[in-house]
Parts: sequence; C-alpha cells; structure tokens
Amino acid sequence: MIKNAIKTIEEVRLDFPILEREVNGKKLVYFDNGATTQKPKVVVDAINDYYSNQNSNIHRGVHTLSQEATSAYEEARIKIQEFIGAKHSHEIILTTGTTGSVNLLAHSFSKAFLKEGDEIIISAMEHHSNIVPWQMICQERGCKLKIAPMNNKGEIIYDEFLNLLSSKTKLAALVHVSNTLGTINPVKNIIKDAHKVGAKVFIDGAQAVSHDVVNVQELDADFYCFSGHKLFGPTGTGVLYGKEELLNQMPPYQGGGDMIKTVTFEKTTYNELPHKFEAGTPNIVGGIGLGVAIDYINSVGFDFIKKQEEELLIYATNKLKAIDGLKIVGEANEKASVISFIVEGIHPYDIGVILDKTGVAVRTGHHCTQPIMDFFEIPGTIRASFSFYNTNHEVDYFVSMLERAINMLK
Ligand code: PMP
Repeated sequence: MIKNAIKTIEEVRLDFPILEREVNGKKLVYFDNGATTQKPKVVVDAINDYYSNQNSNIHRGVHTLSQEATSAYEEARIKIQEFIGAKHSHEIILTTGTTGSVNLLAHSFSKAFLKEGDEIIISAMEHHSNIVPWQMICQERGCKLKIAPMNNKGEIIYDEFLNLLSSKTKLAALVHVSNTLGTINPVKNIIKDAHKVGAKVFIDGAQAVSHDVVNVQELDADFYCFSGHKLFGPTGTGVLYGKEELLNQMPPYQGGGDMIKTVTFEKTTYNELPHKFEAGTPNIVGGIGLGVAIDYINSVGFDFIKKQEEELLIYATNKLKAIDGLKIVGEANEKASVISFIVEGIHPYDIGVILDKTGVAVRTGHHCTQPIMDFFEIPGTIRASFSFYNTNHEVDYFVSMLERAINMLK
C-alpha cells in the first residue's frame, strides 16, 4: 500500500547522509541514479543493527538469533510482495539483482518450456543483461531471438512488435523503462498482446520500480524483476517475481542447501517455493535492508516521487536543449527521469571527467546497451538520471558546469 506524501524535499534530503558530502571540494550533485540509488539512513542503520544485534543464519536455526533473523528476512519478502502487488509471498524469489534474476529465469524457464525452433522476443533497447542470457539460451536450445525495433525517438515500433508475435513465440522479455533512453514501454499492452499468441512475458523492471507504482497482477506479468540497489536498498539484492503455477513447473537454478526437501545419494527432492530457487545462505542483511528501503519509499510516497521527478525531467530537458550542439538521445513521449545526450565534437568521457571535478556525478559510455549506441551511431552518451531527492538547483549547477566544460573542450 502506497501512502501519501508526508515529507518536504528538505526533509527527504536529510534522510540521505551522502548528499551532504563533498567531491573534489564541491558539494556532491549525484545524477547517476540509474546506475545505483543512494541509501537512506534507515537502511544503513538497519544493516548496522543486523550485524550488531542479530547476525546469524536463517531458516534452519532453533536459537533466538536465527529465529529473529529468519522473521526479519521473511517479513522483507512480504514487504516486497505487497510493494509489487504479487498474490503470494512465495512468488517472490530473492536474487542477487536483475542480472541474477534474468539468468535464473533464462536457465529454469528454458528447461521447462523451450524447445528447438521456439522464439524469444526482446527489444532493441535492452540492457545487456536482458540480451546475453537469452542469446546463450537460444544457442543452447536451438531457439531464435527476435528483436522488436525502435524508432528515432527511442520508442518500440509497436506494429513491428506485433508482427513478430506468432505461435512460435514462447517468451517476450522486455525492459519496462530503458536505463539509457528513459523510455517507458507500454508493458501492459505488450503483455496483453503476447498472451494472445500464448507467449509468456518477462519484464525487466530494474529502472521502473523506483519511479512509479508497479502492480504485477494488474499488469498480468508472468515474470518481473528488479535490483534492490536501484531501489534505495543494498547492493547484491534483487527480486524475480513469477506466477506460482509457472514457477512450480520450472526446475531449480542452483543446487545446494535450503533448496531441498530430502537428499539421499540416490535421489533428491526439492523444497517448495520460494526456497526451491534460493540455494545456499542468501544475502540476509541485504534482504532485510531492502525491506527497510521499501518501508522508506512507502513513507515518502509515489505521489511525491513522481511529481518531483517529472518536474526535474522537464526542467533539465528544457535547459539542456538550449545548449548549442547538444542533442538528447531518447525523446519518447512516455519517459522516466533519465536524460542521455551527446555534444557535437566532444567525447562523452571528457565531459564526465570534467564534471566530476566540479562534484557532479553523471555516467558516460554505452550504459550496457551497445545495440542502442549502434542504432544511433554514437560511441556513447552522457547520462543524467534523477531521483526524487534531486533538485532544480542541482540541475542549474550541473548545466552551468556542463556549459563550462563544453567551452573548455571546444
Ligand atoms: N536492466 C536494466 C534496465 C538496468 O538498468 C540494469 C542496471 N543498469 C540492469 C538490467 C542490470 O542490473 P544489475 O546490474 O543490478 O543486475
């Protein structure tokens, strides 16, 4: 359940201690939220508290510490379930991140559902982590990877996506929000149309869940994933959501402790969901920290988050567009608070280095989306990605430092 906004931007910024730090003698302006978001103090404190007061292994211990840690970890799973509107908490598989989730899915889904000649559709704007695992699976199983193309604004050409769908399509695996272009894809329609031909749909929500409410049941997504560290939680955490009936048909990904019911040398039986997919000691403190991050997001509320980010996107887009020789890459009608751009005659890397000297953190390069760079025939972009704790004042400073950098490098 998402509560209404109860904080001001000043209060929100105080929740993130790192925003007070200086970089190269200047106040940090952190515009690399697409790579990872900063952590509120409550998350940092929860990690400290876990290691100071609760540390123990989960699920198998009868002693108090183990029971407390198990409860905290399993409560986090329920918070995640509620956060994305899943029907059951056992449909929430805790992973190491989006990459971990896609690899788990690719391995287990392919073993259960794919045979030679089947087709998987991805889009032209996928992150490498939603390309390479499917290429590997296609090679292994003799399946075909089909690519839904995009237009010059960075939007999927929907008719062409529809044309790719057929009875051969077993899976459509598409990104919800592009980390490079900011494009918000029409995932509800994608899911509805893919279901018409009997395909299952997996959505990479790595860049979506921090910007807006996601409800996997309303979307009718078969699988959905995200990374905890892009959602104000600890690194090394992530989620794969899957519909119970599908997860039950899929074999485990890794073997080991916790994922079994019984083991003899002759035969092993597997545990129930979600443990079947969670071999070994998990990132316990990470999972607990992610639960705390979700509590924090709920306390801020998506009304506040969306309003703040939409304002930042419009404000920064207009200011950047006014700079001579600057071109924004990715101008979808539906866009999250991510702006990629290039400046005529200047390498993105050089701008990134100079901005760092002024305390501004942006990302430069291909952003793990080399096919997007090939499409636009560019080596890379500069990417400013905003979160709700950023301000117009920071945008002003960033734009003036960018103008200075451009003048120096021209
Ligand atoms: N997909 C998208 C859209 C992403 O933005 C990212 C991270 N940049 C990933 C997948 C991979 O996430 P991670 O590195 O946390 O596994």
